[in-house]
Amino acid sequence: MASLSLKNVCKVYPNGFEAVKDFNLEVEDKEFIIFVGPSGCGKSTTLRMIAGLEEISSGELIIDGKVMNDVEPKDRDIAMVFQNYALYPHMTVFDNMAFGLKLRKVPKDEIKAKVEEAARILDLEKLLDRKPKALSGGQRQRVAMGRAIVRNPKVFLMDEPLSNLDAKLRVQMRSEISSLHNRLGATIIYVTHDQTEAMTLGTRIVVLKDGVIMQVDSPQKLYNQP
Ligand code: ADP
Ligand code: ADP
Repeated sequence: MASLSLKNVCKVYPNGFEAVKDFNLEVEDKEFIIFVGPSGCGKSTTLRMIAGLEEISSGELIIDGKVMNDVEPKDRDIAMVFQNYALYPHMTVFDNMAFGLKLRKVPKDEIKAKVEEAARILDLEKLLDRKPKALSGGQRQRVAMGRAIVRNPKVFLMDEPLSNLDAKLRVQMRSEISSLHNRLGATIIYVTHDQTEAMTLGTRIVVLKDGVIMQVDSPQKLYNQP
C-alpha cells in the first residue's frame, strides 16, 4: 500500500558526475513500474536513492505523503532484490530469509511464521535447512525474493532479478513475480533489459537515457501492441 513520488530528483556523484537529472515520476499504489534503458543511464542509481543506499543530491522522494530523503534505509519499509541474490553463504535458507527481521528485532515466533509462509508461497519449504551453495539458480533467486517478502514491505525494488537465470527459469520466475504482485498487492519498481519481461509485468514503462526520463508509457503504447 504505497504511492511514491520523485520530484526533481538529481544525483551528482562525489566525482561530479551527474547520473540522474531532474527525475519526476508519480507511482500509484500497486503499480508495477519498469525502468528500461542502456547500461549507465541511471536505473540502479535511482533504485538505490529510493532504498536510501545512495544520497539524493537534490529534489524529494515522497512515500505516502511523507518526505523520505533523510529516513534511514532500515526504516523505509522498502525491500530490494538484486540480480546477484546477495545471499549469506554461511547461513541456511531459513536464516537468510530471517535476517532482515532479526535485524529489526521481530520476535522469534513471528519470524518463524513469516519465513514459513514465504517458503510456502515460493515453494521453498523443503529447502529451509540448506545453504545457498546447495541450491539451483532459480532456488537462490526465490530465497532472495523470500527475504524481501517476509518483511511485507510497502515497496519492492528489483534490479534485474532474473538476468542470471537461464531462459526456462526466467519464464517461470516471471509468472511467479506476476502472481506475487497480484497476491501481495505491492508497489513494484523493476529494472530489466528484457522486453518480454517489461511487456508482461509492467503497468507502465519508464525509458531512461543519460540520467533523463525520455518517455513514460503503457507497454501497449510503447511497443505498439494492439
Ligand atoms: P544503470 O543502472 O542504468 O546501468 P547506474 O545507475 O549504475 O546505471 O549508473 C549511472 C551512471 O553513474 C553511470 O555512468 C555510472 O558509471 C555512474 N556511476 C555509478 N556509480 C558511481 C559512483 N559511485 N561515482 C561516480 N559515478 C558513478
Ligand atoms: P534487509 O533484508 O533488511 O534488507 P539485508 O539482509 O539485505 O537486509 O542486509 C542487511 C545488511 O547486511 C545490509 O547492511 C547489507 O549491506 C548487508 N548485506 C546484505 N547482503 C550481504 C552479504 N551477502 N554479505 C555481507 N553483507 C551483506
